Amino acid sequence: MTTSRPLVAGNWKMHLTPSEGSSLATEILARLPRHSAAEVLLLPPFTCLSAVGGVLAGDTRVGLGAQNCHWEPAGAVTGEISAPMLAGLCQYVLVGHSERRQLFHETDSIVRAKLESVLRAGMSPILAVGETGEERQAGLTRAVLLRQAKAGLVGLERAEVLRCTVAYEPVWAIGAGAAAEAAEITEAAIILRSVIEEAAHGGAGGVRILYGGSVTSQSAAQLLGAPGIAGALVGGASLRAADFCGIVAATGR
Ligand code: PEP
Repeated sequence: MTTSRPLVAGNWKMHLTPSEGSSLATEILARLPRHSAAEVLLLPPFTCLSAVGGVLAGDTRVGLGAQNCHWEPAGAVTGEISAPMLAGLCQYVLVGHSERRQLFHETDSIVRAKLESVLRAGMSPILAVGETGEERQAGLTRAVLLRQAKAGLVGLERAEVLRCTVAYEPVWAIGAGAAAEAAEITEAAIILRSVIEEAAHGGAGGVRILYGGSVTSQSAAQLLGAPGIAGALVGGASLRAADFCGIVAATGR
């Protein structure tokens, strides 16, 4: 049982310039109701954080997060961005997205180090986990989710676990145009909830589990109504204000 407000986070991935991002954020603000039952979060590219933050400033309806960070606070790591560099710009950082795991070979221990760096910098991590299509076919979904979630959470202080959000994103459903079935999502949520409770030593109902993978405004109500799910991590549809706000509306219902 989750007890917290649902969260809808839009992962813009490697899309939009600062001015395009500002326009999209402006349109999202214009379309959102004055009071939304769901917490709304935008995850633009690093280069848009400042501009989008400027658009959102003073509007408490929408928060800001980053899509990634390095695990070290500073150093000779050309081209990287650390958690302390993000701390003044946003409140959340996504770690462990499958595109990072696959394209940049991020292991569970790298993801854990990133998650800890986000916590140390005073922000809230969103830990993305999920099985590939091959792992699913091989009957490994449960094992993969347990491994990734335990590597991310077990051993943290209880108070740290309570600051995390976990996103179940089956890799085969990301950008596929076809989401997982509600029953599969619930099954995954039960597995992830068991790890969250283990990591927090119980009483972690407030830690949200999101679903991500081809969520649209048409599918949102059904997908996000799956027991154990408290919101969505949205990729493609988050680049379209009407679709994204439709998902927010469906989540708040
Ligand atoms: C994602 O990349 O986190 C994602 C969920 O993408 P999409 O919604 O496009 O499947």
